[in-house]
Amino acid sequence: MQAVRFHQFGGPEVLQLDDIPAPEPGPGEVLITVKASGVNPVDTYIRAGIYGERPLPFTPGLDPAGVVEAVGPDVTGVSLGQRVYAAGVKTGAYAEKCLADASLVFPLHDSISFAQAAGINVPYATAYRALVGRAQSKAGERVLVHGASGGVGIAACQLARALGLHVTGTASTPEGRALIQREGAHTALDHTQEGYLEGQSFDVIIEMLANVNLARDLTALNRYGRVVIIGNRGTVEINPRETMSRDAAILGMTLFNVPPAELQSIHAALYAGLENGTLRPVVGQEFALPDAAAAQLAVMAPGKLGKIVLVV
Ligand code: NAP
Repeated sequence: MQAVRFHQFGGPEVLQLDDIPAPEPGPGEVLITVKASGVNPVDTYIRAGIYGERPLPFTPGLDPAGVVEAVGPDVTGVSLGQRVYAAGVKTGAYAEKCLADASLVFPLHDSISFAQAAGINVPYATAYRALVGRAQSKAGERVLVHGASGGVGIAACQLARALGLHVTGTASTPEGRALIQREGAHTALDHTQEGYLEGQSFDVIIEMLANVNLARDLTALNRYGRVVIIGNRGTVEINPRETMSRDAAILGMTLFNVPPAELQSIHAALYAGLENGTLRPVVGQEFALPDAAAAQLAVMAPGKLGKIVLVV
């Protein structure tokens, strides 16, 4: 099978298409014929070697969507040919086939395309965990989705709107702001404009770029407000007094820390939303598997309009 791999850490140019044997499912594993694969910013951090050790050569990709080709000896509840996406890959998803943990393979509703399904796991599970698990958002609260036009942001806008929150999102382009308003934001702001948060106040802030925004976020929180840090690319200086005067909380999170039982619950909630149309992953750009380097450049470029997806 064909798989995108890197043999050394580095820039996007280290990604290459290799011909390698297809993996075989062992106990507790499912082999998926990949139809589409989500491209996430974390894939680029891993490729650059700044996200911990990985065995080389390494195939990136955490978000496969496709069809069940084979199952391990003890696997039940998953049928051959079933349309699925996976939340626990054992081998990288930038490939024609990949192995996944059977307990984290989820059925795909008929209304969701494979390209959309490649944008469910990391973006939607992260947004759900941030809004519900970490911030404990309540209907009627005001949320700022700070960076709303990308994979996680659009998911957060749709989820927050469905949960009955008042949703404000930010994007850098007019097209991005129009998109997030279609996808659930009551109001859209431009995070490149001077003073764009002046006069605004929120109970919850879902933060995609904390090193740039955290100090300002704290000043825009209501009493008992919560900032959930999803994305961060550097250090930042804050005034802790802004948290004291509000009894405010700064909450970190990573999807890798979510316990398996909670993952099951999150994906059950996501299935319900995908089934009733509340949740609709938005595919911004599609790339062919050999163009994985271009796809990884695109996921780090500004002006987001939804998910970057590899079509296999
Ligand atoms: P993405 O699709 O690339 O979207 C990035 C978003 O950030 C876009 O909406 C972009 O808006 C926005 N942005 C850019 N500059 C900003 C600024 N100064 N202030 C606020 N927003 C800004 O990425 P993603 O998949 O949504 O992921 C977002 C971040 O969360 C990434 O850093 C990613 O690594 C991280 N993440 C973390 C977890 C976790 O478990 N903690 C899980 C998933 C993702 P414009 O393009 O319109 O400027």
